[in-house]
Amino acid sequence: MMTSAADVIVIGGGVIGSAIAYYLSQEGVKVSLIERGDIGSGTSSACDGNILAIDKVPGYDSQVTLKSQKLLAELIESLDYDIEYAQRGSVLVVEDENQEQVARDWFARQKEAGLPMRYLEGREVFEDEPLLARDVVGLVECASDASLNPMALVYGLVEASRSTGAMIHPFTEVTRILRDPVGSVCGVETTRGMMSADQVVLAAGVYTPALATTVGVAVPIRPRKGHILVAERSGRPARRKVQEFGYLLTKFGGTEGRRVEAEMDQYGIAMVFEPTEHGNFLIGSSREFVGFDRRSNHHVLSLMAKRALRFFPTIRDIHVIRSYAGLRPYTPDHLPIVSLVPTVPGLYVAAGHEGDGIGLAPITGKLISEMIVGKPTSIATEPLQLERFDK
Ligand SMILES: Cc1cc2nc3c(=O)[nH]c(=O)nc-3n(C[C@H](O)[C@H](O)[C@H](O)COP(=O)(O)OP(=O)(O)OC[C@H]3O[C@@H](n4cnc5c(N)ncnc54)[C@H](O)[C@@H]3O)c2cc1C
Repeated sequence: MMTSAADVIVIGGGVIGSAIAYYLSQEGVKVSLIERGDIGSGTSSACDGNILAIDKVPGYDSQVTLKSQKLLAELIESLDYDIEYAQRGSVLVVEDENQEQVARDWFARQKEAGLPMRYLEGREVFEDEPLLARDVVGLVECASDASLNPMALVYGLVEASRSTGAMIHPFTEVTRILRDPVGSVCGVETTRGMMSADQVVLAAGVYTPALATTVGVAVPIRPRKGHILVAERSGRPARRKVQEFGYLLTKFGGTEGRRVEAEMDQYGIAMVFEPTEHGNFLIGSSREFVGFDRRSNHHVLSLMAKRALRFFPTIRDIHVIRSYAGLRPYTPDHLPIVSLVPTVPGLYVAAGHEGDGIGLAPITGKLISEMIVGKPTSIATEPLQLERFDK
């Protein structure tokens, strides 16, 4: 039996699908959000909650992020949910003289691109973060950066969508996207029956390629695994988000300017430190292409802890209380896909946000809703089109 109740079906109840459901519902569009497991059970609950512009490539990447940061600040006002949002800025730690020039260049390019950046050196470094290892030489700060609880953001968006009429279908797996005789989208087949709609948005994170192939579409997203350690409540070793500058190298590739053991590079390990509103802190990060396995690897976790100690020696006696791993939806050029699919009228893809999906969720939701209701988009979308990978 075919259920026909929605104008738009959104596949995937992670942060991206939830943001799309939210912005479409705000426009008065009837949305059905379909999620295979529970809401937010994918990568959006196995990550950090940083809303960062500091680690984006200067240019389109940082501009789209700034837009999303602004949207998020507005969005929070309309959510009836505490998402533990704190805008304290963030810093990149410059480890040694070897890294200094490349960090200064990065700072200059970001500042020129309009980001609220500062370069701290000498005493300023330890006035800002007194417990950092004494041999680090600088900090690059971005004042607009923030953090939040990603699961609370997903629940907040879903509840707000529900209250404006969206239908939420957890524990319902989409098995296939359906097309009519002329090739346009006409709905989806699920484990609870067929559902019809003229427009379908594919926001299934790392599982997007598998669903896209059901209508013959290739989407170049791969799972890039990352681990997190959660430390017990303690006096905070840092007051805000701190990452080593070398994180940029593990994210974008290249090892120039970072002197670490080969194994650290092999697992893409770079120190990422995030205090939470509850007094715990999260330690990352790793980056690996190892398929869809989400189990934690103890060896990788121990290397991450070792790297964190290099920057914060005083955390040695603080206990780790749990760990988890998630799959970042990686694209080859590090930008997400937020696009209609030209070969399948009515189909849209919103996925591939790699390590930035929490921060980019507001702009992604807004852009897809603008495309669907036919409004001018808040920012140019050419760099986000699916067809860019054909070239
Ligand atoms: C260790 C780590 C740290 C990170 N830190 C940050 C950070 O600090 N800041 C940031 O911005 N980003 C961060 N990220 C990235 C961020 O978590 C992701 O980009 C984001 O969660 C992706 O959201 P999504 O909605 O696309 O995917 P998901 O959250 O995975 O949602 C997709 C959903 O689709 C569902 N689904 C799949 N197939 C089907 C189907 N057939 N039918 C129905 N439903 C289906 C899945 O169950 C899933 O719930 C981090 C990621 C990791 C792994």
